Parts: sequence; structure tokens; C-alpha cells
Amino acid sequence: MYRSIYFKIVSIFAVFMVTVMVVVTAVLINGVFGFYTNEFVAQLDAHFKEGAQLRSDLESALSDESYAALQKDVLTAYSTALGIDDYRHFYICDQNGTRLESSTADAGYLQKTPNLLRAMNGEIGVEQTWGSLHTDYAVPLSNGSRSCIIYIYDTQEEMEALAWQIFTIILQALLIGLIIAVILSFVLSKAITAPIQNITRGANRIAKGEFSQKLVSYSNDEIGVLTDTFNDMSSVLKNTLDEVSGEREKLETVFSYLQDAVLAFTVDGRILNINKSAVALLGRSYNENLSFDRFLELLDIGYVRDYIENGEDNGGQFTLRDVVFDDKALDINIGRLRYIEDKQIREGTIAVIHDITARYELDKAQREFVANVSHELRTPLTSIKGATETLLMYPDMNADMRDNFLNMAVEECNRMLRIVMDLLTLSRLDNHKTKWKVARFDLKQTLIHICQVMQVESAAHRHSLRLTVPESLPEMVGDAERIEQVLINILSNAVKYTPDGGEIEVSAEHRDGFTAVSIQDNGIGIPAEDLPRLFERFYRVEKARTSEMGGTGLGLAIAKEIIAAHGGSINISSEVGKGTLVTITLPLDSKLKGEEN
Ligand code: ADP
Repeated sequence: MYRSIYFKIVSIFAVFMVTVMVVVTAVLINGVFGFYTNEFVAQLDAHFKEGAQLRSDLESALSDESYAALQKDVLTAYSTALGIDDYRHFYICDQNGTRLESSTADAGYLQKTPNLLRAMNGEIGVEQTWGSLHTDYAVPLSNGSRSCIIYIYDTQEEMEALAWQIFTIILQALLIGLIIAVILSFVLSKAITAPIQNITRGANRIAKGEFSQKLVSYSNDEIGVLTDTFNDMSSVLKNTLDEVSGEREKLETVFSYLQDAVLAFTVDGRILNINKSAVALLGRSYNENLSFDRFLELLDIGYVRDYIENGEDNGGQFTLRDVVFDDKALDINIGRLRYIEDKQIREGTIAVIHDITARYELDKAQREFVANVSHELRTPLTSIKGATETLLMYPDMNADMRDNFLNMAVEECNRMLRIVMDLLTLSRLDNHKTKWKVARFDLKQTLIHICQVMQVESAAHRHSLRLTVPESLPEMVGDAERIEQVLINILSNAVKYTPDGGEIEVSAEHRDGFTAVSIQDNGIGIPAEDLPRLFERFYRVEKARTSEMGGTGLGLAIAKEIIAAHGGSINISSEVGKGTLVTITLPLDSKLKGEEN
């Protein structure tokens, strides 16, 4: 309350009013006193100057023995002119200042005032001292033989009454003035504080995050300018905040969708931030109270703490490679993180975890592939080596035996050639170097053709091979030769992996833009655990037996790539001992259309 602008303005007005009134009163009363004193001296000077009637009457009275009584009569006669009344008296004294006569009956001690003392010295005493409680006038008179002093003394009571009256009037004026000043100052301070309160309310709203309201500016004065500036400031602040929060949102979106797992910890090891990938990576091990120590413990990388403590952390940043956690291979980057907490800049820790399992698996798959290729080629090479060495060692071998060895070598060479050709096909498919012969073709004709091709082999195993196709199948666009290669491969698998006298059925049907070809056998089947791996390169269910059957283990891998290149899919379901169903779904309009040549 005492600090409010209202109070200050009212106080200033009141103090101002009182000060003005005090000064006015002082000046006025001083003026009245001066005027009164001057009037007093001037009035007496007029009657006591040399040659004045009163003076000469008083001087002539000196010649008489009882001059004092005579002089009293003279002065009494002049009392109106001299202003003699209850407050102003005259005294007739001898030259020693002893009272002889006076206009007052009061015969008390006559004080020797400076003016009276001057008159006793023969000078006229007219000096008036400011602040003294009287005014007086002393004139020495002499006729040569006799001297006296006429002394006029005024108690100033009259003047004091006047001064008091002036003071009372001024006091009344002061009171009225004060009331007016207080009212005016209230109005003025209201006029000043209303816009300020308006701005204060606006500032409070901004502090609460409400930027939408604009303050109304009622005037063009400084406060109006302040209001406009405030509005400008609030819109700039809003834009800046929008920008900052936009940036923050962007960062948070990036942070949350980042594939790398990110965890930030405070200086005392509490979790500061964690993104979705990190929560997913830690799985059940994660909870909101996860600490930095617990995190190190989970990933079994507690030695990191020693790095940090010993300052071996390469300026606050280092990478741990191939950390294994929960069957995953991880690269972990650990660094320092500056953040603000309790208005202070602090330094925490940030961990960025990159899941390298896929790369790891790929490396592993490549190593396995190289091992597989070497293994697959070693077997026929060993056979060829054995056959040719035997031929060289026994040049006299009989013709039948030699033919046997030579046939064996040729067979193994063919087997190697098949592997190499298949690998080449796969490599071209992988590198998109395959030359596709895209054309419109009749799938039904293709199916009839493959059944004819496989008829001999099928008959050799006493299988019954049946083809079930609708009257008409829509024509397709694609590489007919390669699709035929895929179908032959799958059909020959059915023939190979079905014990003699089995039943094989090839069927096709058309559904919404797709043609599905199924090859069903009642052969040995495939164990459920092998099904997901069938399309891997060189994967065979029973290595020894199937390679004996002349398979390379690459057929299904190639089939999958060719069908995928056409925009189709291949699916195998099987039950051990009951048989296998391979379904190929192909779009009528192949993806390869653009490459038609
Ligand atoms: P391969 O040239 O050795 O036949 P594939 O890639 O064509 O290689 O087949 C992979 C493996 O899948 C085969 O070795 C075989 O074990 C299994 N397989 C494929 N088709 C059948 C089927 N119709 N019945 C049983 N097993 C099959």
C-alpha cells in the first residue's frame, strides 16, 4: 500500500501543498510584520522630526518645571495621531530613562530597550529587531537646560492578532486545498496507474503462457507507447517461443524416431531422457528408475566407470564396439551432455546405442556362404581329382573301367558346372544384372510343357503326375523362360523328394489380378523347423541325402529371387511324411514390364 503509485502521488501532492502553504504563511506574516513596523516608525517619524508641531510643543513644555505633566497632556492630545491605545503606550522619561509620566496606569519596571538606551545617549532610537516581541521608538528632547526622552512602546499584540487571523485563513485554505489535492492526485494517479495495471495484467497473462490477447492502448503519451511496445514485445516473444517450441518438437520427433537408442543421464545418474528405441532395446529391464550404474550393469560395461574416473574417456567421448546384450550386437557411444537443472548448467552422460546385429548377421552369412561354396565345390573336385589320378596311375586300365572313371569325372564336372551356373544366376539376380526377356505368355501352355518335360522322370519313379487347370487362364506378362525354370525346379523337387509311386498334382487358378500355381506332393515332407530356412542359399534339409539326389541347395533361393523380381511370392507348407505344398503367386502384369526387350 505505502509503495503504491497512488500513495506516492497523493503524498507528493500533500507535501507540496503543505510546503507551499508554509512558505506563503511565512512570507505573508513576515510581510505583515515588516509593514506594521515600517508603518509604526513612519508614523512616529512624521510627528517627531525636527520642526514637527508635536515635537516643538513637547520641547516648549520643557521650559516648565512640571514639564512631564505638560508633555503628557500634549501627547494625550496627539494619542489618536500617534496610535496610542491599549497596546501602544507613551512614556516620558528623564534623560536617565526613568519614567516620569506614561499613558498607562501600569507603573511596572520600564525595560531599558536598545532604542531607549540609544535615546539615553542622545540619539534617536528607531532600530527594530526582527523577532523581538515589541516595537518601540525613543526620541531625546532638549531645550538646552533640560532634557527628556519620549518613549513609545508597542506590544505588537494587535499585529499578532492580525497575524493569527491570517494564519487561520491560510490554514483553512490549506485544508480545502489539501482535500482538492488529494482528490486530484487520486484522479491523476488513477489515470497513470490504470494503463500500468493493464500492462501488469497483460504481463501476468504472458507469464502464464497466454499470448493471444492484445492490450488496448488508450492514449498516445508515454504510457500509450509503452503499451504498444509491450504488444510488440509479446508478439515477438510469441514468435520466438513458437520457433523454439517448433524446433524442440522437431528435435523430440527426431529423437523419438531415431533408430539408434539414446539414453541421457543426469550428473547424479538419474535418467534424464530416453527414446522409444532405447526402451525397446532394454525391454523388460527398463523402468523409470533406471540409473546410470544400473544401465552399465545391465550391459555389463561397468568398466566404463573406470574410464570416466581415470579421465581415459578421450575428452568425454568414447565408443565401445561389439557389446553383446540380449542376443544383439551393439556399438555404444558414450559422451558428456550439458543440461540445465535448477537454473544451473550441469554435465551428465549420454549413451547412443547402435544395433549392429544386422551387419553382424550379414557378415556371418557371408562367411557361411563362402564356407558353403568352398564345401560344395570341394566334393566334386575331390572326386574328379581321384578319378583322373587313378586314370593316370593305371594307363592300362580296361576300357570299361576307364569309361566309368571318365563318366564319373564328367558327372562331377556337370555338378560343379550346375553349382557355378546357379551361383552366377544368383549373383546376377542380386546385382540386378539379369537380362529379362519380358513378354506376354500363356501360363497354361507353360504348365502343360513342364509336365511333359517332367513326365519321363516322374514315370521313372512311378509317380502319377496330374495337371489341373481351368479352361482358360489369363495371359501373363513376364519372363516365361525363367518362370518355367522355377516351376521345373519345384516340380523336380516334388519328384525327387517323394518316394516312388507318389502322387504329384500341379494346379493353377486365377484370383483378382494374380495367378496362383500350386505343386502338391505326398512325399517325405519338410520338418517345421527347417521351413523358415528353405530359401537360404545351400540350405538343405538332409545334406547327405539331398546332395546325393543331385541338388545344389540353390534352387529355392533362385526361385524366390525370380518370383520376387516379378512382384510375386512363393510359399511352402509341409508336414513330414505327408507331403509338401508349394504355392507360387504371380501378378498378371509383371513388375518387370519396363525392362521388356
Ligand atoms: P536342391 O537343389 O537341393 O533341391 P532346393 O533349394 O531346391 O535345393 O531345395 C532345398 C531343400 O528343400 C532340399 O534340399 C530339400 O531338402 C527340401 N525340399 C525342397 N522341396 C521339397 C519337397 N517337395 N519335399 C521335401 N523336401 C523338399
